[in-house]
Amino acid sequence: MSEFKSNSIEEVDDAYKTLHATFRAGITRPFSWRKHQLNQVILMLRENIDIIVQALATDLRKPSQETIVGEIGTIVRRATQSAAQLDEWASDEIVTVPDWQQGWSPTVLKRPKGVVLVISPWNYPIALSLQPVVGAIAAGCPALLKPSEISPATSSVLADLYPKYLDQSAYRVINGGVPEVTYLLKLKWDHIMYTGNAVIARIVAKAAAEHLTPVTLELGGKSPVVIDPKTTNLKIAAKRVLWGKTVNAGQICVAPDYVLIPRSAQDDFVEAIKEAAVELHIDSTLTSDSYSSIVSEGHFKRLQNMMTKSSGKLVVGGNTDEQNRRITPTVYRDVEKDDSLLEGEIFGPVLPIVPVDDIRQAIEYINAHPHPLTLYAFTEDPEVKQTLRDETRSGSLNFNDVIQPLAVDQLPFSGVGESGYGHQTLKYSYDEYTYLRSSVDIPLALEPHFSARYPPYTQATTEALAVHSGAIEAPATGAKL
Ligand code: NAD
Repeated sequence: MSEFKSNSIEEVDDAYKTLHATFRAGITRPFSWRKHQLNQVILMLRENIDIIVQALATDLRKPSQETIVGEIGTIVRRATQSAAQLDEWASDEIVTVPDWQQGWSPTVLKRPKGVVLVISPWNYPIALSLQPVVGAIAAGCPALLKPSEISPATSSVLADLYPKYLDQSAYRVINGGVPEVTYLLKLKWDHIMYTGNAVIARIVAKAAAEHLTPVTLELGGKSPVVIDPKTTNLKIAAKRVLWGKTVNAGQICVAPDYVLIPRSAQDDFVEAIKEAAVELHIDSTLTSDSYSSIVSEGHFKRLQNMMTKSSGKLVVGGNTDEQNRRITPTVYRDVEKDDSLLEGEIFGPVLPIVPVDDIRQAIEYINAHPHPLTLYAFTEDPEVKQTLRDETRSGSLNFNDVIQPLAVDQLPFSGVGESGYGHQTLKYSYDEYTYLRSSVDIPLALEPHFSARYPPYTQATTEALAVHSGAIEAPATGAKL
């Protein structure tokens, strides 16, 4: 595995020029070529499982099971599906029109937008880098990938593997940090796909606006979990929620961020959390290979600071190992609304339980805060489900489990408001990098039908076209306009 190395400005310029020239030359357009590149993505991942597992272990101590399933399996599955459905997604659409337009061949052409810039984060550095690239390939777009400097081992592996598998005239990796990405953002792209936090998203969106470049923003935020104790099984709910804080050490955009539960049920839920903590062996977190580390010293300190400042009562966990950047899944109860754990997105293995009067108050709390990426609710009550559907907003709304909904590739993945905009996975990704080009072909032989549109206009032509256009109803015989 090579050392992380930032690319030079000359290398950025070369990649930029090459990708645009490739697009203009039409190289990325044939479906057979796109399918070949998608298959190469699959090959790149399958033939290098060990190297990728090792890189993620270096960056995050990510357990190999999580890397194989969540990073490699996810992309292999989506690339396979995209190659299989590409012809269907990309085929021209003939639209249904009124009789008088029948001979015009009205068609929607699906065309690649052009060259895509992908800026990806560290927490799922393979999946979140390659997911947009798979979409770009399917859509016939070249793409320049700028992976995160916070996961340098994985970013280096991507830079090493790309030239061995993908057509370098269309797919390149540029590594670097703020200077490199700032330079990239000065250039004009045909689409920018950014995954990361909402502060940087604003920088990306502003830079894109200079060129009127369309942007997809996949962001995060605080994803709440509503527990309806009257209709749910608290033991299963507690186990699932706590599990959601162990996956990648809670460093996942759709991790449950905090729990809202009616006060009267808090004691029972806390007991269930304690049982779940035993079942999930959280006391072994600091040494176990089944748990990830916190990605960096900065993020470790940020989490430690949040925990120290919290006035919540510790329920389970609370142990940390600074040297290895490990934190035991930690749960606090009786967390007040102004607590440090309720300020920003936690993005770590810490879970505050916030007692509320009832479900109604939980909904009010959610609606008083930015729209989350995901809203979770544990309930079997159809009315509660419907109220949540009707009265809240979030990128997705998932009942009775956390994180697992990500396995449904066919659903659009996206935020709303502060959690982002644009969509992805499978056809939604394809659509994101595709523009719809309308086309008609009006035969010259139809010329006699157009006589009324040409000047000089007369009472008769105006009347005829007024009726034809729908501006007025057909007048009764003899009536004037
Ligand atoms: P990060 O620090 O790796 O940053 C993401 C990318 O932004 C990197 O490639 C980085 O180089 C780039 N960047 C840094 N400074 C920049 C600048 N000034 N201008 C332009 N780009 C710049 O990752 P992060 O932001 O810590 O990621 C975590 C956040 O991402 C969380 O909020 C999480 O919820 C969110 N997230 C969202 C999704 C999703 O799909 N919705 C997925 C994963 C993470």
